[in-house]
Amino acid sequence: MPVPPRRRPMLSVVAPAWNEEAVLPTFHDALMRVLTTVQDEFDTEIVYVDDGSDDATPVILGQLATDDVTMRGARSASEVSASSLACASGSTNIRFIRLSRNFGHQAALTAGLEHARGDVVISMDADLQHPPAVIRELLARWREGYEVVVTLRRDHRSLGIFKRLTSRLFYFAMRNMSGMDIRPSAADFRLLSRKSLDALLKMPERHRFLRGMVHWLGLPTAEVTFTAPPRFAGKSKFTLVRMVRLARDGLLSFSRVPLHAALLMAGAMLLTSLIGATTAWIFCRPESPVSWLILTLIVGGHLAGGAVWIALVAFSEYLARIHEQVLGRPLYVIETTSDSLAAASTPLGRNTRSAVAA
Ligand code: UDP
Ligand code: MG
Repeated sequence: MPVPPRRRPMLSVVAPAWNEEAVLPTFHDALMRVLTTVQDEFDTEIVYVDDGSDDATPVILGQLATDDVTMRGARSASEVSASSLACASGSTNIRFIRLSRNFGHQAALTAGLEHARGDVVISMDADLQHPPAVIRELLARWREGYEVVVTLRRDHRSLGIFKRLTSRLFYFAMRNMSGMDIRPSAADFRLLSRKSLDALLKMPERHRFLRGMVHWLGLPTAEVTFTAPPRFAGKSKFTLVRMVRLARDGLLSFSRVPLHAALLMAGAMLLTSLIGATTAWIFCRPESPVSWLILTLIVGGHLAGGAVWIALVAFSEYLARIHEQVLGRPLYVIETTSDSLAAASTPLGRNTRSAVAA
């Protein structure tokens, strides 16, 4: 999409945060330092999404956004004309979206992406495991003409063997089951041009596996490798259960292999039941045809029943997804945004979309 000539391109950084009070102030400072170095080229904004934290995360983010609104209000009153405030350079617009509860990382990220106004949008974690300094490299690749710049995580030695192994296993399964070559260690730290973001936001699926969805777009993509340091503070939110859920969403959204495998298994079990019954008939030599029939029914019935169950589980996984999609509930619900705060306190604030996302 051509950049309107009246202004410089805008860079948005989207960072979801859930219970990150211990790391947010440090992350924010580090991010601001990097954004300052690109402000000769870009107008910049940060879109923080609080994913229903129950620690001081919303207070910290609310304060950052309020300070920003106050500073902009003071500036506009004293020196900057109303029409040029949105283009004011040299400072970063800090925006904040608070979700009503914890909707999960992919939904929180989607909320931030939907509200980002940039011509270039970068998503990253708020725990300093995605080093802000890499932003400059992402922008360099974007300037070369790429619509998408993905990052590949070179794991730090301190990353547990369990996380490393499960991640490799997942990407192996993904590559073989979906046929999509999503690189191992792909992170949700990526740059999207406005064109690729608009295309991504047109994808309506509820169970979002953004890495796969971005890959599916097929737009020109560059890769940047970075070393993920250990968490600066706080704990990883991706427990085993959450990792399994994300992997399941990825596989079921992009692969029909579980369905085919269930049908294959059902076929294999039926065959086994036939072989079992025949073997029993040959070797056990039941005295009467009735006991033979009973034996056949027991062996065959059990195996065929097992086969049906397997197929049923696979079908119901897909059915549950269709059901949730048909319900059409929003992916997330917004409790407050800093934009409403800005609208209330300065005549220049712009309201974003409605409180409840479509
Ligand atoms: N996060 C979130 N909602 C969640 C889980 C995580 O917004 O339900 C955020 C979290 O605050 C962090 C990012 O997503 O900014 C990545 O989470 P985390 O660092 O725990 O994941 P890991 O690096 O261990 O994979
Ligand atoms: Mg992390």
